[in-house]
Parts: sequence; C-alpha cells; structure tokens
Amino acid sequence: MVARIGVLALQGDVSEHIDAFRSAARTFGSEASLEVLAVRKPAEIPHLDAVAIPGGESTTISRLIDKFGFYSPLVEFEGGMFATCAGMVLMAREVDDPRVHPLGLMDYAAKRNAFGRQRESFEADIGIAGLDRPFHAVFIRAPVAEHPGNGIKVLGSCPEGIVALEQGRHMALSFHPELGNDPRLHIRFLKNCGLV
Ligand code: GLN
Repeated sequence: MVARIGVLALQGDVSEHIDAFRSAARTFGSEASLEVLAVRKPAEIPHLDAVAIPGGESTTISRLIDKFGFYSPLVEFEGGMFATCAGMVLMAREVDDPRVHPLGLMDYAAKRNAFGRQRESFEADIGIAGLDRPFHAVFIRAPVAEHPGNGIKVLGSCPEGIVALEQGRHMALSFHPELGNDPRLHIRFLKNCGLV
C-alpha cells in the first residue's frame, strides 16, 4: 500500500518540503511506498495519510485556507500534521494576531515574529528531545509557542520560548527543517505516523 503525504500548496516553501520528505523516505528505502504531493484542493485532504503545512505568511495562508474551503477538511483530518513556522502559527489553539484563524489542532498559544527585528533570520543549534545531537535550525521571522496544554510534549526551546512540540502524531516547529540537509525531524514525524 502506498502512503500519501500532502504538502498544503497555498503559499510558502512547498517544493522544499516535498524534497525533504522524499529524501527522508529514501533513507528507509521507502520511496516506492510513500507518495509526496502538493495539495491544491480541499477534497484531496481526506485521502491523505499525513499533511504538512509549510512556512510562509500565516495571515495569507489562513486567508486562503478559509477562502478555498480548507478549514473544515484540515480540522477534521485524522492523520498526523507536520507544521513549520507559519504552519506552527496555524496549528495553535490561539494566536496573537486576529488576522489568523487558527486550526486549534494543538494546545498552545502562538506568538508571531517572536524574535524581533534584531533576530529576524538566524541559525542556531537546538537540542531536540530524542535526537542524539542538536539540530541546526534556520529561523525566518519565526514564531514561538507559549502556554502549552497537558497533551503537549515540548521538544525544544530557545530563551524566547518553545520552538518544537509534539501532540499525538502532530509536530510543530518554529524553524525550517526543510532547509538544509538534515531529514531527522521529517523522519521522526513519518515514524510517529507509522509511515516508515
Ligand atoms: N512570520 C511568519 C508568520 O507569522 C512566518 C515566517 C515563516 O514561515 N518563515 O506568518
């Protein structure tokens, strides 16, 4: 059986995520049993095994989710979701910007652009629970998570706040694991979802 991972292709770095999932699948020799595709229609969502929401501009992605009818299919989706940067903003229970209509699939509050102008874009080695060595993370106008609920597992933090979390099969990261050649977090997500 072929498992299908859909990368929400409304805005943001879609092709980078597709490449990262394909290279994660290759690590396991699973490229034939894992199909990775760009998702452009809400009707595709229920046929997927996992969904990725890429980085971009959360206000724009949120507007497009509502406009094109993705909101309910995403909220009702039963598979795991992998959300990075703007995606992490969208997954939250609440967001500090009224222009974002959060999906509320993970129990934390998202704070947009949490690193201020001095640190708009930067790279840092972040310790992630369960990884044997730090993850070299690329942050671009990144959010942080605050006030995690009981079901949340915090995987990594910076002085500014939480930057990596899991809840069930969902994973949210405030940085961009698809930039760079380290597939460990994509692999971890695929394993959590039982897809490799
Ligand atoms: N600052 C953006 C937002 O809050 C996220 C930036 C990104 O995804 N790289 O939507």
